[in-house]
Order: sequence, then structure tokens, then C-alpha cells
Amino acid sequence: MQGLMQDWQMTVDKVLDHAAHNHGSREIVTRSVETGEFQRTNYRTLRQRAKQVSSALLDEGIKLGDRVATLAWNTSRHMEAWFGTMGIGAVLHTVNPRLHPDQIAWIANHAEDRILIFDTTFLPLVEAAKSQLETVEKFIIMCDPEHMPENSLGAVNFELWIDGRSTDVEWGNFDEQTACGLCYTSGTTGNPKGVLYSHRSNVLHTMITMGVDTIGMGANDTLMPVVPMFHANAWGLAFSCPATGAKMVMPGADMSGKAIYELLDKEKVTITAAVPTVWLMLLTYLQENDLKLPYLKKVVIGGSAVPEKILRAFEEDYDVEVFHAWGMTELSPMGSLGALPPALADASHDEKIAYKLKQGRPPFGVELKIVDDEGKELPRDGKASGRLLCRGPAVSKAYFKGDGGEVLDDDGWFDTGDVANLDEHSTMQITDRAKDVIKSGGEWISSIDIENFAVGHPKVANAAAIGIYHPKWDERPLLIVQPAPGEKPSKEEVLQQLEGKIAKWWTPDDVQFVDEIPLGATGKINKLKLREMFKDYKLP
Ligand code: ADP
Repeated sequence: MQGLMQDWQMTVDKVLDHAAHNHGSREIVTRSVETGEFQRTNYRTLRQRAKQVSSALLDEGIKLGDRVATLAWNTSRHMEAWFGTMGIGAVLHTVNPRLHPDQIAWIANHAEDRILIFDTTFLPLVEAAKSQLETVEKFIIMCDPEHMPENSLGAVNFELWIDGRSTDVEWGNFDEQTACGLCYTSGTTGNPKGVLYSHRSNVLHTMITMGVDTIGMGANDTLMPVVPMFHANAWGLAFSCPATGAKMVMPGADMSGKAIYELLDKEKVTITAAVPTVWLMLLTYLQENDLKLPYLKKVVIGGSAVPEKILRAFEEDYDVEVFHAWGMTELSPMGSLGALPPALADASHDEKIAYKLKQGRPPFGVELKIVDDEGKELPRDGKASGRLLCRGPAVSKAYFKGDGGEVLDDDGWFDTGDVANLDEHSTMQITDRAKDVIKSGGEWISSIDIENFAVGHPKVANAAAIGIYHPKWDERPLLIVQPAPGEKPSKEEVLQQLEGKIAKWWTPDDVQFVDEIPLGATGKINKLKLREMFKDYKLP
């Protein structure tokens, strides 16, 4: 027997409909990318303009399932592009502007993006990638008409593009399993892989992240997503804010401590979220200028492990609660958050701090378990450490176009590539990473790309890049080189080999030479052994 409830398709346009109808005057404040001034709109207007984006896209011939890409900061215009695209069942592809132009072109071609909407900041990047872009038919620049830059792309201004268009466009009215968003992540091997969110997964993820033990915002909150919309779905905030009616503060292009403080203070932000590097910059600015955070209640920190120094500074010096979060693009991305379990209610302050350094507990809708190398589940005793597996309605079951083949085991579990333990409260603690990528300032660096280019040098026999702890960036790459027989390459020669081929910030901080790079049983570089060999090494 079936239930007798309505067939209300979970599509993300309903989130913005809800915000416009019930929280219409709630503000979205953006720091202008061009002028730094604060620009104000609200959910009612944002929805109207997103409808105009839909009209423009339909007029361009964009259909259900077509990809529309953005290269953009967190701004209200970016939100309009998101909802305008998703509302008509096209797929919003957020491209990460921190990548090299060659990679951006590769990703855009793989995604078959038809339209590219971007901020003025990224014009040089788009112009550099242009000759390699095979599918983009139209370029739209998001700025006021008076700031429209000269360009070689024949680009159209966003405001002029949507101006006068109809707001009478139907949203939704397609299956909730329809693709909604596309975000590429650096996989463990080979090229980046596309994570393809559905409307249903995004709506369920929104609901998962609204609970008080997760991000827990409400209509009375002012939320500032510093975590970029091009990174892992902005941790779902572009959906959960309108879903709750929270006021939004969008930092645009300036993530400096001064700029972030100004927004927190002037707009009275109550909850914010970003990677540790951003908070380190803010805390330094606060300390240097003897400032306080009277309005901020909660800061969600994830993307890499929260250093104790940051946790203590927020909680002890500024009376701001820290929620340590773990997740990944493939999980939409929230996997676990750091609400303390009731059993710790009477624990000492230091015990609580120690516990909060763990990566938190899974909310309803995320299942976690740890297994040994044979796939046997390990006990939740806080000691046994194994591969972290995950299951849930907002967890990937495959990559776009089937890249990477099967990603789930026979029971539907997704291997996160992280190594962790779980304790009796299901609080998870990351202890290592089985995947080879390096994470710097919350963004991936592909060790494989660095290695492939480095071994292209005739004096290099083999090369391996590993992440080394760095106080500001969490990790920075160290390149380990085994010279070709009889050769003595210099550090400069090796680094020169990488120049222009990878994004500048991917350049290894140092090169170390070894007689032999350790290999595993299958002939692959043994990164665990290398990490062990260089565990006491300090970057210059
Ligand atoms: P995001 O950075 O938004 O979490 P990514 O897909 O870019 O998403 O990266 C996911 C990976 O980042 C995880 O598999 C893990 O290795 C690392 N990571 C994310 N959050 C944490 C955390 N709180 N502590 C340690 N590592 C983390």
C-alpha cells in the first residue's frame, strides 16, 4: 500500500520561491567586485532577476540538461545565475578559478559548457583559455555596465543581457532526480572528475544542514558564506540561507582579514563558514588591531583540519563557537560536524577543546563507517583507524560521464579516500589520507600533475610530490626527485620544468633529492613511506 501524500518534487527553485514569498525583504548584501562598495538586494528581487536569467538562457536556446558555467565569487549575481540556470533544469557548472587556464579549458570542454558567466576578475583567465574552449558559445560578464571591461571575447554584460526580459518563466516541473549542479574535484588519479548533484540531493542536503547540530541557521541569523560557491557547492549555503530566510552577506573578491572583519562588523554577521586559512588571516587582523567580534555566534570551519590555535582563539578570546566540519565535494559536501555529544556536557573546557579538534558527528542523512584493507568493518572505539566509507542521499554514486568507473562497493558505500577513527559517540577523527592529493589553503593541488611534468625533465628519473605541514596553508607541496643515472639536477632546473604548466601557487615550496624513491608492490610510488621518511622535514 502506498502513502497518500502529495508528489511534491524536491527541486531547488522551490527554495528560492519559499524565500521570496516568505522572507522577501530579507537582504543579500554583496561587496562589489569592481568597487568594494556594499550592494543590497533581497530575496524577492533576487528571484525576479533569476527568472530574467532563465528567460535569457531560454532565448539563447539553453535546454534541460545543458551546462551553463560560472567563474565567479560569492555575490548576489552569482546566486541569480545559479537559480536562473537550475530553475529551468539546466546544469550550473561552477568552475574553480584557482586552476591553470589549460585545466579550466579541459574541464569546460569535458562538461560541454555552452555559456560561461564570469566576474571581471577572471577576464584574463578566460582570455587565456579561450582558444582551447571548444563548446562555449557565449560569454557573459557579471558587472554594472559602466564597469564592463574591453575584451576579445565579444562578451555581453550581464545587466544588459537580462534587462527587460520576462519574469514569467516556469521553474521546476521536471523530475527531482534531474541534474542540477556540476562541480569538478581533483580525484586520486588522472584528470579531475565531475560531481553531478541532482535537485533532490541538493534539497535533501539543504535540509540536512539546517539542523542546530549542523550549521543551524534561522530567519534571524545573518550568514556570511566565505567558502566560495565554486568550491563544493559553497557547503550548501546558497540553498540553506534562502530556505531559512537568513540574511546573506557575500564577500565578493576580497577575503583579507580587514575585508572580512568589516563585513562581520558592519552587517552584524551571526554565522560564517570557511577554511582555516581564511580564519587565520582574520584572527591576525583582529589581534593586530585589538578588535572584537560582538555579533558573531558561530563559525563553521572545514576543508582541512582546524588547528588548535584557531579553535582556542575563537572560543576563548572572542566567545565564538567553533563547529569543525568535514566533508567533500562528492558528499554535497557536508559529512560530519562538531556538535559535542551530550556525554561531554560536564567535561572540562580543555577536554571539550580536545574533542572539538575531531571532525564531528554525521547528521541524519549521512552514514559513516570505517573498514580495514579487506573491507571488514572496524569497531567504533576511538582507536581503530581505517578507510572512511560513506552512504547517503546526497553522496555521489558515480562521476560525470562515468569517469573513474564504479565508485561504490557492493553495499553502496563510497570510499572517501580519508583514513579515520570513530568513537562510541560516532565522532569521527581523520588520521591520514589514502589519496595522494595535497590540500593547500582548502584547495587541491594535484601531486600527479606535478610529478608528470617533473619527470619530463631529462635529468629526472622519478619524482613524487607530498604535502608537508604549513602553519598558514595547512599543507604545501614538497617535490622529491630521484635523479637520472649520472645526473645532478638543481632545484631551480626542476622547478623551471614546471613553470607555466601548472598554476603558480601549485609550485612546490622545495625540492629534495633522494637516491631512490620507494615503490610499492604494484610499482606505484609508496607515498606512505615517503611521508614517513620526511616526517621531520621542515619547509624552508
Ligand atoms: P571540502 O574542502 O569542501 O571539504 P573537497 O572535496 O575539496 O571538499 O575536499 C575533501 C577532502 O578534504 C576530504 O576528503 C579530506 O581529505 C579533506 N578535509 C575536508 N574537511 C576536513 C577536515 N575538517 N579535517 C581534515 N581534512 C578535511
